[in-house]
Amino acid sequence: MAAITVTPVTPAAPETPVEGPALALPLPVLHATVLDWYEANARDLPWRTPDASPWAVMVSEFMLQQTPVKRVLPVWETWMERWPTPADLAAEAPGEAVRMWGRLGYPRRALRLHGAAVAIAEEHGGEVPDDHATLLSLPGVGEYTAAAVASFAFRQRHVVLDTNVRRVFARAVTGVEYPAQATTAAERRTATALLPDAAATAATWAVAVMELGALVCTARGPECGDCPLFTSCAWQRAGRPPYEGPARRGQSYEGTDRQVRGKLLAVLREAHGEVPQARLDAVWPDAVQRARALDGLVADGLVEPVEQGVYRLPQ
Ligand code: SF4
Repeated sequence: MAAITVTPVTPAAPETPVEGPALALPLPVLHATVLDWYEANARDLPWRTPDASPWAVMVSEFMLQQTPVKRVLPVWETWMERWPTPADLAAEAPGEAVRMWGRLGYPRRALRLHGAAVAIAEEHGGEVPDDHATLLSLPGVGEYTAAAVASFAFRQRHVVLDTNVRRVFARAVTGVEYPAQATTAAERRTATALLPDAAATAATWAVAVMELGALVCTARGPECGDCPLFTSCAWQRAGRPPYEGPARRGQSYEGTDRQVRGKLLAVLREAHGEVPQARLDAVWPDAVQRARALDGLVADGLVEPVEQGVYRLPQ
C-alpha cells in the first residue's frame, strides 16, 4: 500500500508520517471528533474516576489484557478492596493473587502483578512509578502496560497501542479491516503522528480511541452508522474491502490444554491448602493431557509441588 503523508493542521513530528490513504480530516478535527464522542459515550468505569489511584489503573491494565470489561469489573473490585495498595498485595503469598484472579484467564498475569507489587513495595517506596522507563523495568510490565499506566494514571503523552486502538487505526486511517497480527513499525509511526501534542489531551485521546474500538469499531461487527468517523473512515470510503491478510488466530478453548489448566487451577484455588493428586485427576479424563497441563502450571510457577502427589498454590 502506498504511504501517503497527510499535512496535519497541528504539525506532527515530520519523521512520523501517517501511513495509509489520505486522512479525510485535519488532525485537530479528528481529535475533536473522537474526544467529543468519548465525552458523550465513555463508560463509567471505576479505574477512570479522578480519584482512581495509579495502582488501581495498573491493576485494571493487567486484568484488561485479553479480557473484556464486564468480566474484569467484579474481580477488580474485590482485588482493590483486599489490596488497595501495592504493599498490601506484596505482603501476601503469590498464591493468594492466583486465587483472587479467579476465572479471569491467563493467570500468569496474577503472578506478574504480584511481582510488580513486590518491586514497587521494595524498590519504589510503595508508589507506582510515574515514568515510562521505570514502569517498563517492573516485572510483567511490557511496552503497552507501561504506556497505558503512564498515560491513564499520570496523564502523560504516550502511544498506547492495544488491539482496539490498532483496529480503529487500521480501518479509519489505513483502510484495511484488520491490523497485522503483531504490531508493526508503520502502525507505531501512524499512532505517533496522530497523537495530540498536549500531554493531557494525548492521554484522553489514547483512552478515547480505545473506547471507540471497544464499543463501536468492534472486531466482528463494527457499528459504522453510530461511529463519529463514519464519513472520514478510510475503510468505509474504500467500500469496506474484505480482509486479505493471513488467517487470524481463533480463540478456541474447549479441549485445549488451557481448559485443562483452568480446571486444575480451579481445584487448587478453592482448596485453601494442599491438594492430593487424586482430586486433580478427577477433573479431566485424559491422563497424558492432564499431566502436561499440570507440568505447565508448575513450570509457570502457578502451582507448587509440596511432596510426591501433593500440590498447592505458590507460597
Ligand atoms: S466507520 Fe466503521 S470501520 Fe470506520 S472507524 Fe468507524 S466503526 Fe470503524
